Order: sequence, then C-alpha cells, then structure tokens
Amino acid sequence: MNYNDFFEAKISDLHSEGRYRVFTDIERHAGKFPKATRWVGGEKSEVTVWCSNDYLCMGQNRRVLQTMHDVIDRCGAGAGGTRNISGTNHYHVLLEHELCDLHNKEAALVFTSGYVSNLAALCTLASKLPDCIVFSDEFNHASMIEGIRHSRAEKQIFRHNDPDDLERLLAAADPNRPKLIAFESVYSMDGDVAPIARYCDLAEKYGALTYLDEVHAVGLYGPRGGGIADQEGLMGRVDVIEGTLAKAFGCMGGYITASAAIVDFVRSYASAFIFTTALPPAVAAAAITSIQHLKVSAMERQRHQGVVAKVRRRLSDFGVNHMENPSHIVPVMVGDPVMCKQMSDDLLDHYGIYVQPINYPTVPRGTERLRITPSPMHSDEDIEHLARSLSAIWSHMNLKRAA
Ligand SMILES: *Cc1c(COP(=O)(O)O)cnc(C)c1O
Repeated sequence: MNYNDFFEAKISDLHSEGRYRVFTDIERHAGKFPKATRWVGGEKSEVTVWCSNDYLCMGQNRRVLQTMHDVIDRCGAGAGGTRNISGTNHYHVLLEHELCDLHNKEAALVFTSGYVSNLAALCTLASKLPDCIVFSDEFNHASMIEGIRHSRAEKQIFRHNDPDDLERLLAAADPNRPKLIAFESVYSMDGDVAPIARYCDLAEKYGALTYLDEVHAVGLYGPRGGGIADQEGLMGRVDVIEGTLAKAFGCMGGYITASAAIVDFVRSYASAFIFTTALPPAVAAAAITSIQHLKVSAMERQRHQGVVAKVRRRLSDFGVNHMENPSHIVPVMVGDPVMCKQMSDDLLDHYGIYVQPINYPTVPRGTERLRITPSPMHSDEDIEHLARSLSAIWSHMNLKRAA
C-alpha cells in the first residue's frame, strides 16, 4: 500500500467537502483580551477574538496569573509524576477540596483535561458496572461518546433534551440492569439547556445514575459559579458532575465530583487517570484562585450576560439571524460549510474579527455556523463593529435577513 497517497486522499476529501480545518495563529495579550495578534507567515495584524471559550477572560485575571507565577517559583514547572507515583502535589489536593465545596459533593478528582475526565469516568463506570446500559443524549460531546464507546457497554441514544424519549427507553429496559444517564447542561453548539430536574426524576423512578457534563456552565451560572445544577438547586440530585478548568475558569484540566465511593472507584480503576502525569502544580493553583474568585464575584457573570444580550440585540437590529437560547452562546446559522468558511475568512481578513467556522463533525451537516462567544471584556465598539461587519457580509453575499 502507498500510505502517503492514502493519507493525502483522505485530506483532499476534507478540502472538497469544505471542512478542512485551518488553524488561526494568534497571540493573545494578557491584560488586553479579547484583542490578539494574528500571524500569517511573518506578517501580523490585530484581531478581536469572538470565539474564545475563556468566557470570562479569567485567563488574564491578575490574581490567577500571580498565583501561577508564585507556584512555578515555589514548586517548579511540572508535577514530576503520575498522581500515584510522586506526582500528587499539595495544590492538587487543595484543588479537589475547592471543587467539592463548589459542587457541594463529598469528593472530587482532577484530570489533565475535561476530555480525559469524560473519557475516563464514563468508560470506567459503564465498563465496570455489570451489564450496564448507558442512555446518552444524541448531541453529547465527543469525549462522552468516546468514553461510552470504550466501555463497550450497551448504549441507547435518546433524542436531544427530550425526557419523554428517555423515559420510553428506560421503561423498556430490564429493571434489574444498572443504568447510567449521560447528558450536558449547556450544549456548547446550540447553547440550549437540558431539563436536569426531569432527568433526575426519571433516574430516581428507574434506578439510574446521572452523569452531567457542566463544562460550558461552571463558573458562569449559579450564585457561586457551580453551573446550571447550582442555579437550579439540583447539585445534590445529580450523581456525577463533570467540569473543566479550561473554559470559564481560564486555565487547564478537568474534573468529576461525586460521592466519596464513586470518586474513589474512578480514581482506583480509570486507566486514563492512573497512567498519566498530573497537571503542573502552578496550573492547579491558578485554577483554585480562579474558582475562589468566581465563587464570590458575580461581576464577571453579570457583565458577561450584559454583553451577550447586547450582541443579540445588535445582530437582530441588522437582521442577522441567530439562534435564540437561554445561554451565553450566540450561534449564527449558515448551513453550508464552504460559505461558513468564506464568511469567517472575510471577517478575519477584512474586518479584523476572529470567529472560527464550525463545521461537521462538530455539528451535524447542514447546520454549519459561526459560533459567537461574547465576553465581559468586549466593548460597545467591539459589538458595534461585529454587528456592522456581519451585516456587510450579509449584503455582500446576498443573504436573507431576519424580519
Ligand atoms: C470542551 C468540552 C469538553 C472538554 O473539556 P476540555 O477541558 O477542553 O478537554 C468536554 N465536554 C464538553 C461539552 C466540551 O465542550
């Protein structure tokens, strides 16, 4: 076999479908978010980032940065080992305490990323529970899908955010088999929110465990930033809450929080937790500072929601279609991968606006979109420039405007 021809053919498939991924090379500037320098070859220009998941700009928070500096100087660069073999730094222990407190759970476990936490926890739970059935929302994140797939457990997919469909499946399943319901709170691409209370009711009725990915909600919702379950007073009813330290908390790493027994079980059996080096202590420490800050400061959340509302209003004023939802994510639907990429390129090249195109397989084909994520640091001028630039592209490309 000519291996190289094979790889090149697969890449050219992506080009012809218009969904070849091109990375935008940017240099963010702490203290100036959402502004960044864009590099093309040796050339640079200033751009405004409108697609970051550092939703609250905590990645430039002065206290977070100071902690990171201090702990690098105190503890060095890396953790020096897996958690089991010399890599458990005191800051990992403190971070896990902080997360227990955030979610009001008995225990927490930190992983190197949110992706790994889903992969490891779902795989371990679903593979070790004897004859487990996993009930999974059809729009769940790739990391959850992979974790379930690796477990080799039976998987039943329920319609997105549809508790009636879930109940239909639960009712038809053998009442004696262990069951795990896996879902997210805020879905990152449509920005819609799961009916968590309904799922908890069903879990109680049919004897299932609940597993909730709050990656796009932690830091952002709830009186202390514990997520949607915090906001709705449901944290105590969800068995496993999974989150990331990389989005609203602005750092890196993932975690689960749950009962002491569940966490100890995952800690003891999950390969993707056991056999990998722990997070750098400075990253763990910085995450603690970020979480602590957002527990007591609601200012970032309020400003964030204010900017989100303004962006929506201005886009509507210009007739630029965007999907309504109760969260902070503003999807501008395009519905075609080539056009989506073109719009993103135009925004970047002609208007200094960076919004990455979102194409298949991140979203279903035909629902390609520009996913706009406002932050508390976007100014009124930034918003105005975004709305006017999109409007200009709408005219240029002869697109239909919303009423
Ligand atoms: C980003 C994301 C993850 C992965 O989190 P990382 O910390 O970036 O690895 C998990 N779940 C969902 C829904 C996500 O969007």
